Amino acid sequence: MLHSPHQPLRVAAAVPPQRTTPAREDEAGPWHTEAVCRRDEAGLFFAPSKEPTAARLSREEAAKRVCARCPVMVECREHALLQPEPYGVWGGLTAAERRVVLARRRRREVELRKAAAAERTERIA
Ligand code: SF4
Repeated sequence: MLHSPHQPLRVAAAVPPQRTTPAREDEAGPWHTEAVCRRDEAGLFFAPSKEPTAARLSREEAAKRVCARCPVMVECREHALLQPEPYGVWGGLTAAERRVVLARRRRREVELRKAAAAERTERIA
């Protein structure tokens, strides 16, 4: 199985564990050519259907170890956050961890907007 976190997800949401080849190689950015997981023979990055929790945790930790030695981890992670990619381990983060990061980012953006609005109000007053 090809694991291609460097390639955009182009499958229906109901069919998560497979990724397809992008129409153009540059859609995910040039960083994907350096991905150490271009071939995921061990199937580490996506859950098989009905995977038991203990097996999932073990598989995800193994995938994260691969990510930890990947030279494009930062780019991959940002890609997965911006898409956002709903399934699999990308950039050392599981889908659940990415949701947490995105929620934190959204909260931070709201706080920054509020602070900027308050500052504008103070300047006008
Ligand atoms: S960070 Fe992980 S998922 Fe992303 S390209 Fe590297 S090995 Fe693959």
